[in-house]
Amino acid sequence: MVFKKAIAVLYILLGTPALSALNGNPNFFDKTQLYITSSPLVTPLRKLLQFITPLLNPHLKIKDCLANDDLQKIAQEAQTAVGIPTTQQVPLKRAEGTSFTGLEFYAATNCNGIFINQNSLAFKSYGLIRNVLHHEAIHYKYDDSIMAALLAGASCLTIDKISTKLIVRYIKGGPKSNIMAVICSLSAAVSAFGIVHRFNLYAEHRADIQGAYATQCYKCVKEKIDYYNDTLCSHGYASNKEFEAIKKILKKKHLLCKHHAKKVMHS
Ligand SMILES: [Zn+2]
Ligand SMILES: [Zn+2]
Repeated sequence: MVFKKAIAVLYILLGTPALSALNGNPNFFDKTQLYITSSPLVTPLRKLLQFITPLLNPHLKIKDCLANDDLQKIAQEAQTAVGIPTTQQVPLKRAEGTSFTGLEFYAATNCNGIFINQNSLAFKSYGLIRNVLHHEAIHYKYDDSIMAALLAGASCLTIDKISTKLIVRYIKGGPKSNIMAVICSLSAAVSAFGIVHRFNLYAEHRADIQGAYATQCYKCVKEKIDYYNDTLCSHGYASNKEFEAIKKILKKKHLLCKHHAKKVMHS
């Protein structure tokens, strides 16, 4: 009996390592995510999330206006650069608030669109702004907020269902099984949280790396490196060493955006 219980507990705890294994194969995971989030089955979930997301994120104060034309243009270019078809591109909306890292909020993406804190980015370098908007475009491309909700719901339900089945089979009723059912439900919730946390780390890292490549400008990546240090790595963000490697690759190809190409011509 102890052995069977141990198997049940192990099963409950398997969720997070399973996602880690998927993380080991980003290409497979990226493709699966694009496939899942573009499926028509996700449409009702998207509608529901569009409604409840503002309630779940009260710290994000959405403003009733769009970002200025300059930012709008960069956001549009970023969405095109990461491969979002023109028909699916969204205008850049404005918001204010604090980010989940506790630092000044620059931008966020959820199922209601891409949001930017225009005031906090006003005096930042052009390269940093381009990196921020390409990062957000990647979140939008992969529908990361929908995927996080799907993972949370699916893992919670699956883990809870299977553990409940194991309890019914091996413990068979009585107060003991009620206590076990509560423990299993809690474990399911903790495992689901763990899975979503792992996914968020992965999504932030992917948005940083793919976003920086998509800027196609080594000077933009340099301006991002100049601004950041590695304090955000624990939240999944890429390290400056990784950005340096991307800068090197783009520089080798002499890639510059229009803004920096103009500057080089005039210098
Ligand atoms: Zn992000
Ligand atoms: Zn540039």
